[in-house]
Amino acid sequence: MRAMNSPALSADRIASIDPATGEAIAEIEVTSPEQIPQIVADARAAQHEWGETPLRIRCRLVRRLGEVIYRRRAELAELISREVGKPIVESQLMDVLLSLESVRYQTRIAPAELAPERLPHSNPAVRAKSGWLLREPYGVIGIIAPWNFPLAIPIAQIVPAIVAGNAVVLKPSPLAASVGAAIGTLCAEAGLPPKLVQVVQGGGEVGSSVIAARPDKMIFTGSVEIGRQVAEACARLLIPCLLELGGKDAMIVLADADLGAASSAAVWGAFYNCGQACVSVERVYVERGVADEFAPLCAEKAARLRIGPGRDANFEIGPMIGVAHIERVEAQLRDAVARGAKILTGGKRRTNAGRCFFEPTVVSAVNHSMRLMREETFGPVLAIASVANSAEAVRLANDSEFGLSASVWTRNSARGRAIAAQLRAGAVMVNDVASYFGIAEAPHGGRGASGWGHTHSRLGLREMVQVKYMDVDRLPRWPKPWWFGYSGELSAAADSFIAWMYAPRWVERLRNLRGALGMVFRRGRV
Ligand code: NAD
Repeated sequence: MRAMNSPALSADRIASIDPATGEAIAEIEVTSPEQIPQIVADARAAQHEWGETPLRIRCRLVRRLGEVIYRRRAELAELISREVGKPIVESQLMDVLLSLESVRYQTRIAPAELAPERLPHSNPAVRAKSGWLLREPYGVIGIIAPWNFPLAIPIAQIVPAIVAGNAVVLKPSPLAASVGAAIGTLCAEAGLPPKLVQVVQGGGEVGSSVIAARPDKMIFTGSVEIGRQVAEACARLLIPCLLELGGKDAMIVLADADLGAASSAAVWGAFYNCGQACVSVERVYVERGVADEFAPLCAEKAARLRIGPGRDANFEIGPMIGVAHIERVEAQLRDAVARGAKILTGGKRRTNAGRCFFEPTVVSAVNHSMRLMREETFGPVLAIASVANSAEAVRLANDSEFGLSASVWTRNSARGRAIAAQLRAGAVMVNDVASYFGIAEAPHGGRGASGWGHTHSRLGLREMVQVKYMDVDRLPRWPKPWWFGYSGELSAAADSFIAWMYAPRWVERLRNLRGALGMVFRRGRV
């Protein structure tokens, strides 16, 4: 909704704004919704040839996209930090590096993952057949992206989509329109066929026009509220969709954890990208015995973080993306304080740094009656609750409509794994937070309101193909035993066959062997 309401978006232009200064950095033309059916038709035409292009050549061209990203890495990181405000180190490590890693990994696994797979048959009646699983591109994949990882999220979806032989129509967030436009330029510079990856610009209306133009699959990353609208629109047109939505990630800190490492992780996990990450630590459940030590450690580390424009490499906390979002964070904090929460540090705007800066905030004495513990905050707030034991921590961590990721902190890794198994989340890390998002092999996907389907990893590549089962009969002239010419004799043979295959006792099976063979070698008579 924030993207739709952004003051930066008018009917025909998007003013791309630096959130640190409020300055306009570019003006981008909005794509008219009337153009979108033609754009999708052009993508479809481009896909026909691309889908027939050998995989090795597709991978070579996608690697060239990686080379262009690599060559332009410094200017891309600078643009990302200017347009969405994140610290330059995060633009490098979380957008540029992740994009390059996606190119490297997906082009490496594609030959094995997309190769036809032999499916041997175990049933003797169909032994003469050879079965195959083929993985074919969908056609045109529509990608609607959020603003917070404006390069990494679209690239990590475009790369497997085109490696698998699809064309893409990407709609970036209007809050990251310049980075979105840069993605189009990178693809052209890499020499990808024209119209294979097209970027359309605008807000919700343009997003819903992409869906209405009937791509063959939609990949949506964004809020629960818009995700629900996208899922409904796709359902009406029976378009499959993948949803990567919000999170409310829990961190469980057991009494035996290394509190120094755990508190640094909590602070980094809650405040990187100014807390505006789907996978960010929003709730901590710490065992009572160590809570009095852990919470002040977090507060002290948060208070030391340096706040300022992300383009300057010495700052750790950049601006939030907009004032409306700060207001949402403030509303959650007001509600929490009114219900008894205690702000240990932060809790205020840092107006001397600029209009969108908010202090990293650590809150204790929280409970689930507070919006802060139930709704996605998507801002720089770390809420810490103390719990009696690990069972209570697991119960509270699972008491959420979200299920994106979680973490468990303990020196006993067997105990960590056992707790991880009880958590309702798409990914659980033991003794680390969030970094799985940068591991190319690790699937990323949510449960419940956090979405469905996977990106990244080989599962992310498989999302870009549809499976076709192919069956080749090696005795093409043999009339099949189950074909017409039914009779009592066939019925008896069928019964023997069933008994031979499935009777619980071997004697019974053997008794039916002859009749069963009569079935297997029968020739249909009509
Ligand atoms: P958002 O839902 O406001 O917007 C996402 C995209 O949807 C934007 O491109 C927007 O223009 C478009 N859109 C808006 N209305 C639409 C409509 N009616 N039809 C089609 N498209 C429409 O989200 P945001 O503010 O850009 O991103 C923040 C949210 O994204 C947070 O909730 C965050 O947790 C989530 N997120 C999730 C993941 C993940 O992988 N699970 C990753 C990043 C962000």
